[in-house]
Amino acid sequence: MAGEEIPGARAELRRRGERLFAEVAELLEALVPGMAPVVGLPEHPDITAFGNPLSFAYHRQVAFDRTPDAADLPARAKAALADWQVTVEHTDSGSTVLHAWRDGMTLRLHLNPVRGLTLCRADLEPMALHLPEEFVRPEPLLAPENVRPGHELCPECEGLGWCERCWGRGWTMGGVTWGGRTEGQVRCGDCLGSRACPFCRGAGERPRR
Ligand SMILES: [Zn+2]
Ligand SMILES: [Zn+2]
Repeated sequence: MAGEEIPGARAELRRRGERLFAEVAELLEALVPGMAPVVGLPEHPDITAFGNPLSFAYHRQVAFDRTPDAADLPARAKAALADWQVTVEHTDSGSTVLHAWRDGMTLRLHLNPVRGLTLCRADLEPMALHLPEEFVRPEPLLAPENVRPGHELCPECEGLGWCERCWGRGWTMGGVTWGGRTEGQVRCGDCLGSRACPFCRGAGERPRR
């Protein structure tokens, strides 16, 4: 499910992704020289939410078993993130977690007192690459003049035949929570995915009573 692609959006997301990856590489080289694998930006971004339109982003995650110089690592990490907005979290296990954000980028560094830097996770703010898909109500299956003798137009769908709630798609928006918003596709609660009007089962008419 995707509408028309927004001109230039994919290239812009790629530029932001390249920048994120460069920032992470520079940071890790400063904190744990030579320990992080060198990787390029993946060809395709991640889908981060199945809304309408879809949301896309890039992320980079590096996990470490054991890094040296654990003692001064938190201070060095804070210094390296001087240009970022940083909050510090102390976990029950004694780890320090640095949360940093700047210009649509977020960073998380897990610093264990014994094992040093254990995890670096960087994310981009998700962005849309397409215009929202427009849903059009389909043409009714049955016009009032075509109702068979002894029948009447379905009072629920008025001849549409398709489920009136989802217009025959079988799903509606909603159901997946991402960043506090509810979006995504969820099976239609009226037709339960069958796509037909549950009242007339797709006939558009019912026997006159
Ligand atoms: Zn109906
Ligand atoms: Zn439906």
